[in-house]
Amino acid sequence: QDQSRTEWDVIVVGSGAGAMTSAVVAADQGLSVLVVEKSEKFGGTSAISGGGIWIPNNHYFAAKGGKDSYDKALQYILAAGGGKADETKVRAYLDHAPEMIKYLEEKSRVRYAVAEKYPDYYQHLPGALPGGRSLDPELFDTSTLGDELENLRRPSPSTLLMGRIAWTARDAHVAMARERGWRLKVLGLMLRYKFDFKWRKKSKFDRRAGLGSSLVCALRASLLDRKVPLWLKTDFRELVLDGDRVIGVRVVREGRALTLTARRGVILGAGGFEQNQALREKYLPQPTKTAWSATPPGNNTGAALEAGMAAGAATDLLEWAWWAPTIAVVGEDKPRGVFAERAFPGAIVVNSLGKRFCNEAQGYLEFGDAMYKDRDATGGKNVPAWCIFDAHFRFNYAMGPLMPAQIMPDSRLRKEWLGSVYWKADTLDELARQIDVDPAGLRETVAKMNAYASSGKDADFGRGDSVFDRYYGDVNVKPNPCLAPVQKGPFYAMRMDAGDIGTKGGLLTDAQARVVRADGTPIEGLYAIGNTSASVMGTAYPGAGATIGPAMTFGYIAAHHIAANA
Ligand code: FAD
Repeated sequence: QDQSRTEWDVIVVGSGAGAMTSAVVAADQGLSVLVVEKSEKFGGTSAISGGGIWIPNNHYFAAKGGKDSYDKALQYILAAGGGKADETKVRAYLDHAPEMIKYLEEKSRVRYAVAEKYPDYYQHLPGALPGGRSLDPELFDTSTLGDELENLRRPSPSTLLMGRIAWTARDAHVAMARERGWRLKVLGLMLRYKFDFKWRKKSKFDRRAGLGSSLVCALRASLLDRKVPLWLKTDFRELVLDGDRVIGVRVVREGRALTLTARRGVILGAGGFEQNQALREKYLPQPTKTAWSATPPGNNTGAALEAGMAAGAATDLLEWAWWAPTIAVVGEDKPRGVFAERAFPGAIVVNSLGKRFCNEAQGYLEFGDAMYKDRDATGGKNVPAWCIFDAHFRFNYAMGPLMPAQIMPDSRLRKEWLGSVYWKADTLDELARQIDVDPAGLRETVAKMNAYASSGKDADFGRGDSVFDRYYGDVNVKPNPCLAPVQKGPFYAMRMDAGDIGTKGGLLTDAQARVVRADGTPIEGLYAIGNTSASVMGTAYPGAGATIGPAMTFGYIAAHHIAANA
């Protein structure tokens, strides 16, 4: 009877991690809940993400003897937030994030473990920790989802081992940093996949889900446990208001317009506007393209943002995205984010003058920001930027879709990738000519970097100085795990666009996740979370999981607030 029902206590728009968390918690509070999802798949960007959540003072780290404190975390976020992180909201986050994850661990199917070695991104700031705040989902057995598994937004091949095997971020790190025993670990994962004969007969996908896929599967299973309906192919269009109060939503469900009543509240968790070219041009720095975004095409077009604005909401941070450089791969529906590879020793990134413009190994938000910000300072264009590496790098390390040549030599790469995904030449000059980069600038940069590789000190940008840079370095490369010479031909180039993993600005909310007007008064009945809301982190990306952690936490807060207030 849920299919024809039009009245609910709470309507949640979107089925990302924050939205589903709010639905789980609201249902546990005895409220009737409906989740509406525009796409034919559930999970949103959250489903294809790393699923990491950044939770200061979490119980997993404490159980391992880790030391963190509320005050340290507060100091760190405020220092990182560029003056745009609101202390009241940051405090709400710090108060409730550890509670939220403990709650899910106890009451739902969500399971995490601490990624102890994953450092906060701004190691130079007070309150930063070298690890312990980022949590990584445990693998989830997707067979428990039954037929609903068909509706999962599948992870990108780039987040799977060999494009199909699930792993945790902790396992991936062991392999990428080439820690001791990494070959054995990878072999073990491959054998586990191969010998799961029963599941192999059913599907080419791994039985287990890792990363964001694990998270959204666990949340979806928790909604099924609670019999909370999730309507796919249901496109939220508008809010319904009674005077100043939001009392429902207008949706189009499989072509049919419906008005649904939300007696207690509407929670907007419909992502940002990353997939809307017009809004990107209106708000983000230029040039900008939906095609550069690593998010699923077509869904997060900012409908919730626009509806909130139409209801009188204030906004913040609309000129910001969760930047991440991306590589477009022909035949794939979205580009791949370049998170780790920039730190591998021997890959350098230059602009059209052949000059480096930042520390390649820094966090992806700062890297993306530098693609725009430092454009004028260098006098050259950083959009696109070019990642340059040599045959030694190519043999040993992955870059975007290119697996190391020792596993996948050039002869086995797809023909159409040459000249579209990667460029290759015997000399640096020839490579520069192919990609329209100044050859003299490139020669000079490479000579400098080669000298830095032997001294171990990047005198320009300090690459490899911080424990965060070194997280993705190669522990076997000395003296600096992030620096190696570029000297052995052939030479390679890959194009990096000014991409993102979602927009960062949105509806302004208060510490209870209520959407507020410019005068600070809340719009009754309306809540926003995730990338529909302006980030609690201001302009920063403090650590791995700083987008989904807040989305889930403010989802948790919103559900409790609705339950507590008639
Ligand atoms: P989403 O997860 O995208 O959910 C929004 C949902 O709303 C979607 O399902 C969408 O279809 C639906 N929707 C949109 N419009 C409507 C409408 N009109 N009506 C109904 N439904 C609608 N962040 C982290 O914190 N940790 C990580 O490890 C991490 N790794 C990442 C790795 C990759 C490769 C990428 C691309 C991103 C990563 N991110 C990570 C970023 C993170 O995934 C996103 O910022 C986050 O998932 C956004 O959550 P959300 O709930 O706002 O949006």
